[in-house]
Amino acid sequence: MDFCKKHGIEVVGITKGVCADLNIAKVMLEGGVSLLGDSRIQNVISLKEAYPSTEVMLIRSPMLSEVEKVVEYADYSLNTELSVLKKISETCKKLGKTHKVIIMVDVGDRREGLLPHDVVPFVKKAMELENIEIAGIGAQLGCFGGVLPTFENQKILVDLAEKIKSELHIDIPIISVGGSVILKLLEDSLLEKINQLRVGEAIILGTSSTDNRDIPWLRQDTLTLKAEIIELKEKPSLPEGPIGKNAFGRTPQFVDKGIRKRAILAIGGQDVSIEGLTPLTDGIGILGGSSDHIIVDVTDSQTSLEVGDTLEFRVNYEAMLRAMTSKYVNKKYVKIKLRNTPTEGGGTK
Ligand SMILES: *Cc1c(COP(=O)(O)O)cnc(C)c1O
Repeated sequence: MDFCKKHGIEVVGITKGVCADLNIAKVMLEGGVSLLGDSRIQNVISLKEAYPSTEVMLIRSPMLSEVEKVVEYADYSLNTELSVLKKISETCKKLGKTHKVIIMVDVGDRREGLLPHDVVPFVKKAMELENIEIAGIGAQLGCFGGVLPTFENQKILVDLAEKIKSELHIDIPIISVGGSVILKLLEDSLLEKINQLRVGEAIILGTSSTDNRDIPWLRQDTLTLKAEIIELKEKPSLPEGPIGKNAFGRTPQFVDKGIRKRAILAIGGQDVSIEGLTPLTDGIGILGGSSDHIIVDVTDSQTSLEVGDTLEFRVNYEAMLRAMTSKYVNKKYVKIKLRNTPTEGGGTK
């Protein structure tokens, strides 16, 4: 956070990966984020109710059907459609409020946003709407197209802000970019005039999925998934009988390793992305799973395991998202001491 502040950048703590978990949001606030952001209006509402003095941003373009709630609870929203802005304007007038909007530009990822050449005419029309404050312009990278941030694609945004200022004579106070993959540009000192970062994954997991890296100056030991063994048996590694499709409609592939010791864990695809788990104990390999079971090979494990023991896993973003959304996964919070050099240690969950 200090790193960003030193560069004149405020950070929006994005909570959508953890269903706006209020304990995690609180830690983000204590850590120094300037505001909180989430993609779901339900989460925006719970953040606002828990932290009324914190500004909250809706980071998905509002549904027309939720505009009233957006105006009531969100201080900012990210927008790309004039019809939505019109509805926001009308609703604001009715409620005697103003709402701050950030206009999203598609600088290449091909998810949300106006194409760059449409931005100035769009902003011109948006300026005519009452009770709306055009607070800034923004872009998202690394989400749909997996596009990596470059000096060039963020410069599109910076140049557009200049163009709006000179052609339409309004100030564009905020130039906002996300997600976590953008931190690489910050590290390489290539972020010019960007003054807001929207970051979720990096704060929570210390990783950036898009460029597939552990961010060296952040911690990766924040979340641990624990799952209990409900069956432990030696079995042949190959299934027996004709093979159709598995629980997820795929044809599974198996390698014959002879008889192996296998554990079944009481957790499955309903609760996590099975591919997104990494065992934290040596000698354990994930074989696969179904909706409610994960099968692991524990033959090479040094620890002696029994039914009722738990195994621990590190989670990636997708597995975290699903685990936080699953009501079947208990969330436990542990306070850990901050150390200057992050090594292994406790977790928050
Ligand atoms: C998800 C999202 C973010 C945060 O992305 P992370 O990669 O989790 O940091 C920021 N802005 C928008 C619009 C998003 O949808």
